[in-house]
Amino acid sequence: MYYHWAERIADEIIKSKEEPYVITGGMTTSGPAHLGTVCEFLFPNAIAKVLRKKGKKVKFYFVADIMDAFDSIPKSVEKYSEMLKEHLGKPLYTVPDPFGCHESFGEHYLDEAISIMKAMNVKAEIVKANELYASGAFDKYALMFIKDIAKVREILERVSKRQLKKTWNPIMPICKNCGKISTTVVLKHEVIENDVVYEYSCSSDAGYVKGCGYKGKSSIKEHKYKLQWRLHWPSWWHYFNSSAEGGGVDHFTKGGSRDTGVAIFKAFFKKEPPIGFKYGFVLLKGKKFSKSKGTGMSVKEMIELIPANVIAYHLLKFDLKENIDFNPTKKNILHIIEDYERTSMLNKPVEEMTRAERKKWMAYELAGQREWKGSFREVLMYYQIYKDLSKVKLHLNIDEESLGFILPYIKRWIEKGFVPDDYDFSYKPVKADGVVKEFLSSLKEGMNALDIHNSVYEFSRSRGIEPKEMFKAVYKTLIGKDKGPRLGKLIYALGIERVKRDCL
Ligand SMILES: [Zn+2]
Ligand SMILES: [Zn+2]
Repeated sequence: MYYHWAERIADEIIKSKEEPYVITGGMTTSGPAHLGTVCEFLFPNAIAKVLRKKGKKVKFYFVADIMDAFDSIPKSVEKYSEMLKEHLGKPLYTVPDPFGCHESFGEHYLDEAISIMKAMNVKAEIVKANELYASGAFDKYALMFIKDIAKVREILERVSKRQLKKTWNPIMPICKNCGKISTTVVLKHEVIENDVVYEYSCSSDAGYVKGCGYKGKSSIKEHKYKLQWRLHWPSWWHYFNSSAEGGGVDHFTKGGSRDTGVAIFKAFFKKEPPIGFKYGFVLLKGKKFSKSKGTGMSVKEMIELIPANVIAYHLLKFDLKENIDFNPTKKNILHIIEDYERTSMLNKPVEEMTRAERKKWMAYELAGQREWKGSFREVLMYYQIYKDLSKVKLHLNIDEESLGFILPYIKRWIEKGFVPDDYDFSYKPVKADGVVKEFLSSLKEGMNALDIHNSVYEFSRSRGIEPKEMFKAVYKTLIGKDKGPRLGKLIYALGIERVKRDCL
């Protein structure tokens, strides 16, 4: 019986693989990280965490695939288009960093991803693809695939049901003249002892960029190449001796790169491939994230509005194959945080939890413990009333550290327009009359938020007024709006005495 998918996969690994276990993953940092990219490290890390908790030895290697071609200019760096345009088609680790703070474009966004990993307590060993190739680690694979190119071609065509071009080659050379990797074609190759000498031309049209026309010669030992993705992936499974590696549904389609990877792995390495697990997409309002269109918020922006652990929790609480619809609107952000707060307060032995509670509890444990006491909603309400930290501290029963944690988020919500409508208010009392005056006069010192809330209903009933109308009238008197935070809590936070003084 499993409550969380990470437990199920961890057990599968224990049953069929040998310790020390190795979990692998990877991603191409071709733009700002979005939630889909977060899953690429968050999910394997969750499995490693479960294994570690069971006392197993486990490593998590994460490949930064920055040898991949720079194939589109993300919306977020559109203003650098002129400068970046000429680098399209080059490996990401050779494209300049438009911000000037890193060695390359690929490294800039890798660093951003690493900072998100840190914020989410992900423990991974980062391996850069360009350094792997430069060290010669993949030469043996290139040599093996080129020697047996007919067999490689047969497997890829049969499993993917797609015909490869006549000019297809296991390697993609980097052009010595223009530095592009997406426009080169191997013209001929010759295996000489433990090396492959090859001639290539930079002549193909990648759609978004054309080759420079250069013809050149190189050899595997010069390390100016990368394996085709469908060979590169199974090669790293072998290189790291991976026990398990996941991927999005796009890699796990029938005949997709997972299927061809498995077939290549079995045929060439004569052993069982890593356990595969596929996960759904993270959607934004039902749509896929797109870096080129710039849909949605980047994770870097998101963790300024929602604590990183909460985002991790939200991504881990669903079933693995489910598409996660994540919509960080001003209404949803508070809900997402409150769900995390509620789960963190499930103060009972796991045996007494319902199945759904236990699953969320696992997600909570995997995501990392809550770093604050008190509730975001309450701090938000008090801050809107008092607009001043020292006064919030005076009236709200919360420790300083927690307040120091929550308040910066609240301030950014206000700054960036993420305060839910009901909490977007200031205290602007006016003199009450009629039933509102009567109602406020009826409040007694010592009533708590719930007492006040209930008294609105009692009062309305006794006067034959719709409670809804009564609420509206009181809100109008206190904050000049029809709606607001829960009224009992609001009046309690303001203080009955103060409300009477200001409104009567
Ligand atoms: Zn940079
Ligand atoms: Zn070229």
